[in-house]
Amino acid sequence: MNPVTHFLSGWVPANITPFNRRDRALVALSCVVPDVDGLGAIPEVLTKHSAHPLTWLSDYHHMLHNVAFALLVSVAAFALATRRWKTALFALLAFHVHLLEDVAGSRGPAHDYWAVPYLLPFSRVSWTWSGQWALNSWQNITLTILLLMITFWLAWARGYSPLEMVSTKGDAAFVDALRQRVAR
Ligand SMILES: [Zn+2]
Repeated sequence: MNPVTHFLSGWVPANITPFNRRDRALVALSCVVPDVDGLGAIPEVLTKHSAHPLTWLSDYHHMLHNVAFALLVSVAAFALATRRWKTALFALLAFHVHLLEDVAGSRGPAHDYWAVPYLLPFSRVSWTWSGQWALNSWQNITLTILLLMITFWLAWARGYSPLEMVSTKGDAAFVDALRQRVAR
């Protein structure tokens, strides 16, 4: 699935419990972070026509979608959070939501099913699902719209949105504009 859907899938559950700004961000980011293995796309594209092309995306994409990395992310969240245990637990759950979303709806245009090598580095066995939706399927689009609506509602009701991760000022302006349009 796309990173926006993943991010929102972390953001919404991060608001179930009253986390502070930092802990919310840690949980939301844990739902996107497995896709850092996709950053190999940058050197791959840049070196495509060179004498020694790097095939990092082809070689490593999905490699970090595993239980060892999930635990590492959870430990990092523990180290960085204010409410350590709760944030670490939510981060672990968010990471797994990402994996479930990939198994559910990440089929490519050429009917290429994505498999999640969950047990790496211990085993190469991977998860896949024959009913996997396409990346641009109505299921994915519906889920994304639903998550966006909840995110907007949360911003309106609670007074903050994911923008707070970049700029608290920008976030306050966004919430103000939202509240001016829809009276509380
Ligand atoms: Zn992924």
